Amino acid sequence: MDHSAYAELLDLLEKAARLGEVQSLLHWDEQVNLPPDSRDARAAQSATVSDLLHRASTDPKIGSLLNRLEAERDSLPAEARAVVREARRDYDLLVRLPDDFAARKARLDSRAFHAWAEAREASDFARFAPWLEQQLEMAREQASHCGYSENPYDLMIDLHDPGMTAAAVETLFTPLRRELPELLERILASPVRPPEGIFRGFPVDRQRSFLEGVVTRMGFDYRRGRIDVSLHPFCSGRGTDIRMTTRFHPDNPLDSLFSSIHETGHGLYEQGLPAEPAGTALTINAGMAVHESQSRLWENQICRSRPAWAFFEPRFREAFPEQLARISSEDLYLAINAVSRNPIRVDADEVTYNLHIILRFDLERRLFAGKLAVRDLPEAWNESTRALLGMTPKNDAEGVLQDVHWSGGAFGYFPSYCLGNMIAAQLHLALRESLPNLDALLREGEFAPVLAWLRERVHRHARTLPLPELVRQASGRDLGPQALIDYLRDRYLPLYS
Ligand code: ZN
Repeated sequence: MDHSAYAELLDLLEKAARLGEVQSLLHWDEQVNLPPDSRDARAAQSATVSDLLHRASTDPKIGSLLNRLEAERDSLPAEARAVVREARRDYDLLVRLPDDFAARKARLDSRAFHAWAEAREASDFARFAPWLEQQLEMAREQASHCGYSENPYDLMIDLHDPGMTAAAVETLFTPLRRELPELLERILASPVRPPEGIFRGFPVDRQRSFLEGVVTRMGFDYRRGRIDVSLHPFCSGRGTDIRMTTRFHPDNPLDSLFSSIHETGHGLYEQGLPAEPAGTALTINAGMAVHESQSRLWENQICRSRPAWAFFEPRFREAFPEQLARISSEDLYLAINAVSRNPIRVDADEVTYNLHIILRFDLERRLFAGKLAVRDLPEAWNESTRALLGMTPKNDAEGVLQDVHWSGGAFGYFPSYCLGNMIAAQLHLALRESLPNLDALLREGEFAPVLAWLRERVHRHARTLPLPELVRQASGRDLGPQALIDYLRDRYLPLYS
């Protein structure tokens, strides 16, 4: 192999990756620390770094080095082949676009975001509709330049989960569409109901120290990351420096606890990826769905389980003796695993969450196929909500305007959440096969074997394998919905009997 070409390629990819890290730090700082009158300066800084990042990622030298290395593809070692394959993919997605595309998109994103925020505030979809039209047009333009398998929507899906198509997602979602509404009805028909409004006055400083203990126990390395407060929880950065956030409310301690556990799942994944060479298939994550599988597995299958909660409960009670004094263990556990009809996706439980995703996937697919007009979207949204969740949103704000994603043209993003749930359920099955004493470990608060297993099966592979192959190798099964359906039945039917 042409070693000097490969070394030069790694240098250029690392340079782009470092700029991406700077961009992500600026964003984190904006969400966590930025004084209000410094916003304009930050916008200018972000635009400058974005421009540098775009130049570095589209450097024609990357293209010519890739050409040289692809010419001797057969003699490349497997690692270098993966690096070249993914670098080619990322490079082509950028250089196939017209020069002014990134700037036009950034302008549209910013204006569409403000239009969406105002429309949501007024609960008036018509105000946002023209912006959504423009975002759809922009996405179609992007697909026309970058190429797609059958429909422009396929590119949108592929951007988040390389190699996936709308048809493949549809095949995976079909059984869920059939099984989950019925499972939900059975749960809701149960006389067992989760308690409501039982949490009051949980001091924020104690919440913070409790969840830091949980995050540490999960194996998060605070010497390479931190957790702060922002309006919406997120996890950003790379394994060498992870920035997670959470939010606190004195009457909702479970929100900060479980959202922190979720973000820690993301953080642990990034911390488990190899560090060098930066910005390559050997060190970057395998896509949105795999990322989400890590956060969901920790949040749901592990930490909401009976054995893990049996470990946490006495510690939780010790931290909040007065607040929990009159709450029984069973009520507490039901509150952690509450299932209810809720029109809002981000507040949805594990059972209904997937239905929210299927609804969005269906609508996006119809929009891209020209089978649904933007002006008819609110009614289509409400109809699907009735069909899938058995309820009708009260207004646009509670329905079609609830998510920020479409204002930024992030189509094809939602399916990743549900794919992540499927992968998490499959990993959970495989984890139990590998660790038959998992429940005993969780009851002792021993999470290290879980993390070690994920490091070995998922993290160390970074993006060297296509998604279906990674899932097959890691879980011993083809990617499918059955493990998720079985898991939801096993977790929730006995609880709501
Ligand atoms: Zn997540």
